[in-house]
Amino acid sequence: KETIVDTRAWIERFAAVIDERGAELTELDRRAGDGDYGTNLRSALAKVRANLAADDPRTAGEVFTAVSNAFLHTGGTSGPLFGMWFREFAKGLGDEVSAGSLARAAGEAEATVRRLGGAEVGHKTMVDAMVPAAEALAAAAERGADVETALKEAAAAADAGARSTEALLAKRGRASYVGEHARGVTDPGALTVAWFFEAATK
Ligand code: ADP
Ligand code: MG
Ligand code: MG
Repeated sequence: KETIVDTRAWIERFAAVIDERGAELTELDRRAGDGDYGTNLRSALAKVRANLAADDPRTAGEVFTAVSNAFLHTGGTSGPLFGMWFREFAKGLGDEVSAGSLARAAGEAEATVRRLGGAEVGHKTMVDAMVPAAEALAAAAERGADVETALKEAAAAADAGARSTEALLAKRGRASYVGEHARGVTDPGALTVAWFFEAATK
């Protein structure tokens, strides 16, 4: 099915962006954290590639299960949170990637991350990009937009959410330990979410 190829290509484009730009994320985590973020993410994506090669997934759900399992087996605060986020995409998408199934999955996914991590929008975490992306998908699905339009709008919303973290003080995670030093530093987790949605429609 065409959607299978699409989700796998989406993940492969995401992995390629992390290969190219992972160092920028590490630098952000170094300035307002412990500097291991890019390493954690690269390690997750190496496992993603291995899982995709080994499992040869046939549906979008199977693709995202391979992605989720890789992140769940990765260290750092971000690994398990992304693992649980992707798990909701696996559960919600099954073999049908539409604006509606994406909106439902992204809504469950952001709620799961908020519940597990205890962060809300404005706390300067990945949640600051996950929530607006889910809201954009819901709005697009509501008005009957096609999946490509919905994903483009999600990417724009996630990007705006990620950029909004730059001015904030952190209320969760290691960046909250450095107080005012976190101001002026974009949250790398939020930026990753923006790059993930951007990779969907290239
Ligand atoms: P660690 O702080 O354990 O080194 P990572 O460097 O792997 O973790 O991940 C840091 C990222 O995790 C942050 O950029 C932020 O987006 C996210 N994060 C940290 N704490 C939370 C939380 N409580 N809820 C949601 N996301 C969080
Ligand atoms: Mg870190
Ligand atoms: Mg760490």
